Amino acid sequence: MHTDSGKTAAQEGGGKGLHIVAKPAGPACNLACDYCFYLEKQALFPAGTSLRMSDAVLQAFIDKYVASQPTQEVEFVWQGGEPTLLGLDFFRRVVDLQRPHNSRTTIRNSLQTNGTLLDDEWCRFLKEHSFMVGISLDGPQLIHDRYRRDRKGQGSFERATRGLRLLQQHGVEYNVMASVARETATQPLEVYSFLKAAGVEFIQFAPVVERPADQQTAQFGLRLAPPAALDRMEEQHGVTEWSVEPEAYGDFLITIFEEWVRHDVGTVFVMNFEWALNAWIGNPSPVCVHAKQCGRSLVVEHDGSVYACDHCVYPQYRLGNILTDPLSFMVEQSLQTQFGISKETALPRSCKECEVLAACQGGCPKHRFNRTFDDQIGLHYLCPGYKKFFRHIRKYLHIMTQLLENGLPVSLVMEALKGPLAISIDPKERRQAL
Ligand code: SF4
Ligand code: SF4
Ligand code: SF4
Repeated sequence: MHTDSGKTAAQEGGGKGLHIVAKPAGPACNLACDYCFYLEKQALFPAGTSLRMSDAVLQAFIDKYVASQPTQEVEFVWQGGEPTLLGLDFFRRVVDLQRPHNSRTTIRNSLQTNGTLLDDEWCRFLKEHSFMVGISLDGPQLIHDRYRRDRKGQGSFERATRGLRLLQQHGVEYNVMASVARETATQPLEVYSFLKAAGVEFIQFAPVVERPADQQTAQFGLRLAPPAALDRMEEQHGVTEWSVEPEAYGDFLITIFEEWVRHDVGTVFVMNFEWALNAWIGNPSPVCVHAKQCGRSLVVEHDGSVYACDHCVYPQYRLGNILTDPLSFMVEQSLQTQFGISKETALPRSCKECEVLAACQGGCPKHRFNRTFDDQIGLHYLCPGYKKFFRHIRKYLHIMTQLLENGLPVSLVMEALKGPLAISIDPKERRQAL
């Protein structure tokens, strides 16, 4: 499964560790979602070759990735395309190859899936090996099937929700990734109420933004544009018709936030809101899009090719191959790109002076293809939406921060919004709340 932000089962941060997302089935998938930006990457691999990670690549990846980690915790993220296409035996092999490292390392696995191929056997395995599953579900049937269909044009809602129910029945840890495309953005409460009614507790909303390819990219057989150039003016080609409109994205988040902050704080966790609160209290962002810098979130493809990030699987961002090149060298190269330190240094003046910079950090460099009001390059396409959302929620985050500072649960914000709230600062009660 693949969507705009691509950060799902595990979040990629701007910290010092190295994060590699594996795509063991490459760009293969049993669906053909309208907004998928990954299926077309098949054009980058020789026609007729297998889209399946070989045992040699798998072993090299696992060993080198574990060895590269500065801490004793290693997080593997298996993504696609659709990784479950490989079958359970592939993942049994994954667990076998990880086993020798278990005595020195705590290994965690995450799987990002469209959920359509999950069955009891899969769920038993995922539960047994404590996989965290990110499942893609955009909302109720009409909304989900608007964009998420297979090659025959059949919607995937029934199959995806069956997968969700199985995960729930087996007690597998999961979260939902809901992509926000143009039409989805017009129905925020339908999406949110549906997910809540389905018993989902952890949700991430991912905006869908793509541009049509320019001539240079189209010659590789790709129809979508690579990341924006941050050092020169680009010709503007507009966005695809399924891309969410900037302000509509802000309104979508605001509408859901207004509902959440009154009824669901502490019971439903919307990652977009958690990140904002996190930034408000001064912590570094756990998600690359809103971190100051990125560049440590590489991707290993099924053939061992390593790219600078999930959004940068384009020939110009290929860093090497896991079989032949040292990871340290590839990371160093990645940090030299616009996804390293220049995520911060290339910000236009209007971002540097922006009142919500701490929460936004200018967004993902891939989508910084707009100009500022004073004609500087490098403004994020979603800027009007980001600004509207982050500005709107400040007053609530302020209350929540005060609650935290007083050792009280943030869920008390729901009481505060009903009317005047007298916060008890009795030390005994405070200890109990903690
Ligand atoms: S599930 Fe849809 S978005 Fe994900 S990889 Fe398949 S076609 Fe792409
Ligand atoms: S370019 Fe940077 S911010 Fe954007 S998805 Fe990649 S790692 Fe994240
Ligand atoms: S809201 Fe807009 S101006 Fe402010 S940091 Fe984000 S992208 Fe830049």
